[in-house]
Amino acid sequence: MLIIMHSDASQEQIDQVILQVEANNLAAHLSRGTERTIIGAVGDGRPVNKDLFTLLPGVDRVVPISRPYKLASREFSPENTTFKLDGAVIGGPGIVIIAGPCSVESRSQTLEIAHAVREAGATALRGGAYKPRTSPYSFQGLGEQGLEILAEAREATGLPIVTEVTAPELVPMVASYADVLQVGARNMQNFALLHAVGESQHPVLLKRGMSATVEELLMAAEYILSEGNRRVILCERGIRTFETATRNTTDINAIPVLKELTHLPVLLDPSHSTGYWQYVMAVACAGIAAGADGLIVEVHTHPEQALSDGGQSLKPERFADLVTRTRAIAQAVGRSTVPGRHDLSKPVREGEKAT
Ligand code: PEP
Ligand code: MN
Repeated sequence: MLIIMHSDASQEQIDQVILQVEANNLAAHLSRGTERTIIGAVGDGRPVNKDLFTLLPGVDRVVPISRPYKLASREFSPENTTFKLDGAVIGGPGIVIIAGPCSVESRSQTLEIAHAVREAGATALRGGAYKPRTSPYSFQGLGEQGLEILAEAREATGLPIVTEVTAPELVPMVASYADVLQVGARNMQNFALLHAVGESQHPVLLKRGMSATVEELLMAAEYILSEGNRRVILCERGIRTFETATRNTTDINAIPVLKELTHLPVLLDPSHSTGYWQYVMAVACAGIAAGADGLIVEVHTHPEQALSDGGQSLKPERFADLVTRTRAIAQAVGRSTVPGRHDLSKPVREGEKAT
């Protein structure tokens, strides 16, 4: 349930409500909006008498949360969640563009691509060191050596790192290198992994499972949020349909639907959602027009030599074009872009419009 405080409720009154929530074996989650504070009281589904809270000083009203996901819902947090990834703000008025190779293949490959995407205006560098591959005979990633290469690329370019973690026991180690932990489509319902990334309190990029509904994606996010980790980014990356002309089918609908149902930032991955570099630009533009808070795009300087996903990777020149076009679309739909860290002359403050 949601305990909605009066707009002039004092900190002491908020603390009293939290004590009462916890005394009733419920977890208290605070949402501080600009207007008022909301306290989410989350239990295990057993009925709770709301009068325990209604009469406490400072409480305006107590309402049930109508959705099965609680902390991920707009009801819990009517305002968008925003947080900083180095100089850029995710979920704010600007769009973020995360780019890089599917896999970290070598030091030279990663550094070359990192410099190229930085020049083109990327906000962050992506690259998998732990790769969940359909075939056990496909390249599985360089593991910790790949993370060391990513750390070097961050040092060289200033771009924060987004990289996948595939198992709960790897989370502390991957988090010691990564700025954002990616949970891949194949692991969206790996609940032990969701607990572990939640516990890490590290920013998480959660990709939609290829056969998962929007509600299942939000329930997966709820696992992370329920560990007290608020920095969760959702990512639409295409779903399985009967269509075979593309690798997946981009569920553009999911973007406005998610923006309505949740306060969490929503990104689109036009690389995995199409599977062919030829379609990446068009679908990236569509995603930004539909309201996505940014993109995660695969880029490779030599796609023909890539050890994974070369066919859907953009060359740096095309990626630069994509940045320009999607920035123009962002502006056309009333938002702006958050520039890559390297060209941030002034820091962008939360809630402030970046240009
Ligand atoms: C990836 O980002 O390279 C990846 C494996 O994506 P997904 O989990 O969406 O398939
Ligand atoms: Mn990939």
